[in-house]
Amino acid sequence: MLSFLSSSTTSPLLYLSRKLSLQTLTRNLSHTTMAINLHTHAFAGNPLRSKTPKPEDPFSPISALETLKTQLLDTSHSLSSPAFKVLPFRKGRPLASSSGGLGDLAPNWQLGWIGLDDCKGYLANSGVQLSADSLVYLGSRPEDDIVYWGIDVSGEGGLVPEFGSKQLSFVELRTLMVATDWADEQAMGELAIAGHARALLEWHSISIFCGNCGEKTVPMEAGRRKQCSNELCKKRIYPRVDPVVIMLVIDKENDRALLSRQSRFVPRMWSCLAGFIEPGESLEEAVRRETWEETGIEVGEVIYHSSQPWPVGPSSIPCQLMVGFHAYAKSLEINVDKEELEDAQWHSREDVKRALTFAEYKKAQTTAAVKVEQMCKGVEKGQNFSADFNVESGELAPMFIPGPFAIAHHLISSWVYQDTINGVEALLKQPSGSMSSL
Ligand SMILES: [Zn+2]
Repeated sequence: MLSFLSSSTTSPLLYLSRKLSLQTLTRNLSHTTMAINLHTHAFAGNPLRSKTPKPEDPFSPISALETLKTQLLDTSHSLSSPAFKVLPFRKGRPLASSSGGLGDLAPNWQLGWIGLDDCKGYLANSGVQLSADSLVYLGSRPEDDIVYWGIDVSGEGGLVPEFGSKQLSFVELRTLMVATDWADEQAMGELAIAGHARALLEWHSISIFCGNCGEKTVPMEAGRRKQCSNELCKKRIYPRVDPVVIMLVIDKENDRALLSRQSRFVPRMWSCLAGFIEPGESLEEAVRRETWEETGIEVGEVIYHSSQPWPVGPSSIPCQLMVGFHAYAKSLEINVDKEELEDAQWHSREDVKRALTFAEYKKAQTTAAVKVEQMCKGVEKGQNFSADFNVESGELAPMFIPGPFAIAHHLISSWVYQDTINGVEALLKQPSGSMSSL
């Protein structure tokens, strides 16, 4: 079920998920259900990206762009194949709707896809003619005969009330991330599509000029890359991904983990160390250097855990790739770099387990989902709810850990429950029948 991890991974959770039914696991490790019910890391597993069609395929970026150009010129509104759906973004926020909030059921948000003709119509009402260059290819579903596009409409403020009248609202991606039910594969798919689209559109908006000669760039291959418009330069520019190492530093001997706080964190939230990779550095070297620089701790063995696309970082970085590790400490004395961190401390496994157990992740998710619905229905327009999660998820605990949408959560919970998992693993190796004791 944990499709985000490769077969060579050392993650005990993945090992378990292959061996045991979810029901058995969740019954026994109910306090770990967030980690175990997760199908994939948030923002990974984009269903539109599994296979990019070959150029000659009608669903490929190049062919779809040609069809798109024809359709934009065509005023007859004839039904054409494939159908085109467009996802508008405003200032990095995707258009969303919400439904299903009845009784005890939390509402579900959906992406606000609109048809190509409708998109053309909305923009025409704002006095803008839709051009093929402003649309960015997101992927296709040949089985449904649909090609998906993204568009940045940040300049068209008039669209906000227009969409609002249809119960569609531009919602912060971080808010949608918190509001997503991580056990719902389809909802996680929608989140991944939104993350990919946001990363691409934000990259377009910060790569307007060529870094080589300073001339304007133009979109190529249906927005999948750009190229300098200067005939003498023609530099090709590709979407950028910035890798970040994120590591849980572990003191094996004393059964503790190093958690840290940055001053920008909400009160009582503790997490893993993280940092950018420097040119000419391996991932393992970055893990050791960052840990040393920020806490004065020396790291020996570094073990890969999993990775997560993170398109909700600073706006100057359209997409980070969080590469997660367990890092084993060789020295234990902490010397915090106050420029980088507010604090860093060793925490016992019991303390961290308590922090995971008391945090009300599910409540935070449904609260966020209700607020997305309120935004879409126009109850509380324009508010930013992203801070709510952090406050509510930690209200019962003296410290808490980021929610299941963040790789830090899984780095930490997989360490916390390692022994339990190893115990189950040992049981699995026993003759059949012993499983019933679970
Ligand atoms: Zn150039």
